Formats: sequence, C-alpha cells, structure tokens
Amino acid sequence: MKTFDAVIIGAGHNGLVCASYLAKAGMRVCLVERQPFVGGAAISREIWPGFTISVASYWMSLLQPKIIKDLDLLNNGLEVISVPPSFQPFEDGRSLVFWPDEKRMTEEIARFSVRDAAAYPKFVAHMESIIPYIRRLLFETPVDPTTGRIKDIAKAMSLAWRMRDIGRRVYDVWDILTLSAYDFLNRWFESDQILTAFGCYASGAAGLISPKTPGSAYVLLRPLMRDNATSVGGGGLVRGGMGSISEALLRVARKHGAEVMTGRLVRKVDINEGKACGIHLDNGDYIAAGCVISNAGAKMTYFDLIGREHLNETVIDQVSRHRTKSIAFKINLACNALPRWTSYDGRRLNEPNPGSVTIAENSDELEEAFQSALNGEMAKRPYLWVTTPSAFDSTVAPEGKHVVQIMGGHVPYKLSGREWDDAAKKELLDIVVGQICRYAPGFDKEVLHAQILTPKDIEEMFAMVDGHVHHGEMTLDQVFNRRPIAHYADYRTPVKGMYMCGAACHPGGGVTGVPGHNAAREILHDFGKAFPAEKQRY
Ligand SMILES: Cc1cc2nc3c(=O)[nH]c(=O)nc-3n(C[C@H](O)[C@H](O)[C@H](O)COP(=O)(O)OP(=O)(O)OC[C@H]3O[C@@H](n4cnc5c(N)ncnc54)[C@H](O)[C@@H]3O)c2cc1C
Repeated sequence: MKTFDAVIIGAGHNGLVCASYLAKAGMRVCLVERQPFVGGAAISREIWPGFTISVASYWMSLLQPKIIKDLDLLNNGLEVISVPPSFQPFEDGRSLVFWPDEKRMTEEIARFSVRDAAAYPKFVAHMESIIPYIRRLLFETPVDPTTGRIKDIAKAMSLAWRMRDIGRRVYDVWDILTLSAYDFLNRWFESDQILTAFGCYASGAAGLISPKTPGSAYVLLRPLMRDNATSVGGGGLVRGGMGSISEALLRVARKHGAEVMTGRLVRKVDINEGKACGIHLDNGDYIAAGCVISNAGAKMTYFDLIGREHLNETVIDQVSRHRTKSIAFKINLACNALPRWTSYDGRRLNEPNPGSVTIAENSDELEEAFQSALNGEMAKRPYLWVTTPSAFDSTVAPEGKHVVQIMGGHVPYKLSGREWDDAAKKELLDIVVGQICRYAPGFDKEVLHAQILTPKDIEEMFAMVDGHVHHGEMTLDQVFNRRPIAHYADYRTPVKGMYMCGAACHPGGGVTGVPGHNAAREILHDFGKAFPAEKQRY
C-alpha cells in the first residue's frame, strides 16, 4: 500500500499549484486525476490533426505573478504572448478598440459620447483606487469572526488592521460587490454602447448573471485583478494554449518529487474516527495519506468524496444551497480563415487582427439573451468573446489554417422540452456563427470543424457541477469567508485532515493559482512546516 504525506484529488491547475508548494516544502505528495491528462479546465488538446485547442479556458489574465515567480514557471515552459488590444464592433459600422493607454481610450470613447469620454479618466481613477485592496485580499486566508473563539477573533482583527488604510473606500468596494454592472457603470457613462462594451462580460459567461443583475458589477474587477506591471510581464495568450500553464506546473511538481497518477477516478475519501486518512480509487486501489486535499468543487467534495454521513445538517444545507447554475458555453473551431471584421481597421492598430473580439450589440439584446437562457431556450443573439490564437501563435494550427475559440453566455443547462442532442448543438453552432457573421460576413464558409460544449458538456468533461466555470457563483453571498461555505472558508473542512484547494475556495475561479497557493500555506501551517515562498506579491 502506498503512503504519502498528502494526496490531492484532481490535477487541475490549482491542484498542481498546491502539489508544487507542498512538495517544495518537503512533503511526499501524490496527485490523482480522473482524466488521462492534467490541467482540469486549463488544457490544450489536439482535437483535429494539427489544430491545438484550449478546450475550456483560453485567456491568461489572472495567473498571479507571485505564483509564476515562486514556482519559476517561465523557466519551465510557460510563455505568454502579449496581443494587440481587443475590439468590439457595432452594427452601425462603428467600433471600439480597448486601448490600454488612457488617452487613446478616451479619444475612442469620444466617438460615442463626449460626456463619457470626459468621465473615463475618473472611472479609471476610481477603479485604480480600489483594486489594490482587492489584490491584497486574494492572498488572505478568509477569517471567520463568528465562531466566538479568541483565536478567530484575533485573526479577524489582525486582517482588519492590515487593511485599515482602506478607510472610506470600503463603501466603494461594497458598491462594486452589490450593484449591477449596469448601475455601477451608469455612475460615469450614459451611452448604451459604452455601457454594453464595458459591462458585457457580466453576461452569463461568468455565471448566472447579466449586466443588470444586482451583484454583477464585481465582474468589472476581474481584468484588473492581476498586476501586469511586474517583472513576469502581462497577461495574454499562452503559447501552445492554456495547457502549457498546466504542463509547466506538472514539470515543477515532478521536479520537487510529487507523484502524478492520471486516468484514475477517486471514489471516496477514507475517514477514520473523524479524520481523513486516504482515498479509494475506482479500480479498488487504496492510497494512504497524512492528509487529503480536494481540487473538486464543493458539492462533489462534500457529498461524493466525503459523504453526507460525515456531515452535520447545517453543513449539508449550506453545501446544497451553494449556487452553481451556469449559462456559459464554449465553441472551438478549426477554420480556413479568420473572421474579417467589417469595421476593423488594421492600420489604426498597425495589426492585421485584434487581440480578441467581444460581441454584444446593446443592453436590450443582452437582457433578452439572458431571459432566453433563464426560460430554457438558447439565446438568438448571445454574448460572445472570440479569440483567434492562431493569429499570434503558429504552433496551434497548420500553416494557412486557423483556430477560433468562442466563449459565450446565454444557453441553458437544460433545454425546455428537448435534449442537448446533435441537432440542438448544430442549432447553437449556427446561431453563434450567424452572430459572428453580423460583423464579419462570410465567416460561415470558413469553418472546417466545430467542438460545441454546452453547460452540460462542461459539467461532464471537467467535473464542474452544472457546468459552472468558477466552481460556483462569485457574488457576495459566495465569496471570501462564505466560499465555499461559512465557517469552512479557510481551505479546511469539518473533517480533520481534509482540505480543499480549488476554485470553489477563495478567491474563486479563473486560472489564478491562488486557491492552490493559499491552501498549501494552510496545510503546511497545520503540519508545522515553513511555506516555501517569499512573502511579497511581486
Ligand atoms: C469553458 C471555460 C472557459 C474558461 N475561460 C477562462 C479563461 O479564459 N481564463 C481564465 O482565467 N479562466 C477561465 N475559465 C475558468 C477556469 O478555467 C477555472 O475556474 C479553473 O481552471 C479552475 O481550476 P481548478 O484547478 O480549481 O479546477 P479544475 O480545473 O476544475 O480542476 C479540477 C480537477 O479535478 C479533477 N477531479 C474532480 N473530481 C475528481 C475525482 N473524483 N477523481 C479524480 N479527479 C477529479 C477534474 O477532472 C479536474 O481535472 C474557464 C472555464 C471554462 C470551463
């Protein structure tokens, strides 16, 4: 029988991050992954000969510089390609280029509204004044001030002290976590096109929200959560696809001695006298370990792996209530040519292709699309975020051919009155290609192959309950000390020696690496070992 200090269920990028830190600290670590490959939702696969696809996640905007530096990922195969600004076309022939430079962006906005252009620098200053506090919270272990225990009250007071310089900005943070994206943006902007362009990411692709849903404004923070000015550089596309992040992490974990098993489903955690002491695999094998760590979501970890028999009613209630509904889909295409966006002027950017393209015509269309998904129907005009990695990375497609990846909002997990069969998926493909053709006519003739992932497919392929890309909604009721559930947000669970390290934990989903980092820090603390990393965040 194999025995380890720690066994990790799932080799998503967070499981790999956690394993790397634990192994680096000298623990004997084993990772067990149900898929035949590591990476979870951060994978690259050659789906069609010569075409390498980032099957799920596709855009590196969140992987934290501290983790890249601590684990030396840039010397282990990670290469980030910076891309030109993104672009949003409108049917009236106008378009918006998202210049990172404030002056150019202000000029861009002035083409829609002079008043909004004047407001833009104030909006940027406002966001920049609150983002440092959010970034600092990422690496905090959530505290639980409600237990009444002196130790927890002291931790809460210590956190409050560390954050004391936030002052009255606490109300600004409060607003962005509680308001809708639309209401929040409306404080600065009036043009519907500007409101739509800035708020459209809150359109189902991030959860069961629309820009008019209270609490959806938090999405506006996501592109700012990573400091792109550090020595490890900015975000963008990853050479070879998002799987290259996971491959780099795998290399690091193995270098430090971690053992990795793929193609093995973990059926159950072995709990003896209230303590996790190993795992049972689908083939009957048993692995003993000093602690067990789950990279799976909350419902799977608590109900399938731990089991309700080890949980009290309060915990069962909380986990049952954990909101995981999703309306996000992903379509990956192999193409003869890239979309030719009518309103894109390559000379203005000095680039033949924009870095990525968002499609959202106006706020009414977005709301209508959201309502369709809530009613069990596919939206006729869904929100889309289109990336074209082959325009910037020659390794992902045969010469002269292209990869087009589309993340979309607005299709239900369960269709009303029908199944997600091949005919329904073909209908979704036609809708999405048609939506692109509104702004890039003729693109429908360029598609060679298509992979269509509905929320149900995402659930099945990635073991993400309901297909939620963040392992659960990230609104105020499910963040920080309530993620995944109240009283167990510090990467521990009610079972001694059983931890969680994935996106279901603070600070949530996205390829950030932070849940894996923070979980490793807590586990090493419990084992009386030093955390093998610098304190600074780079
Ligand atoms: C379609 C899609 C698009 C996305 N786009 C982006 C993007 O562009 N940028 C971004 O930053 N984020 C994106 N995300 C979100 C991001 O990919 C995820 O939030 C993140 O990858 C979660 O990482 P994780 O390691 O916590 O969990 P996961 O990646 O879900 O990994 C969990 C692992 O555990 C394994 N597992 C579960 N149960 C068991 C078991 N019983 N036995 C063995 N193994 C098990 C799973 O197979 C999986 O490999 C996207 C997600 C999806 C689905």
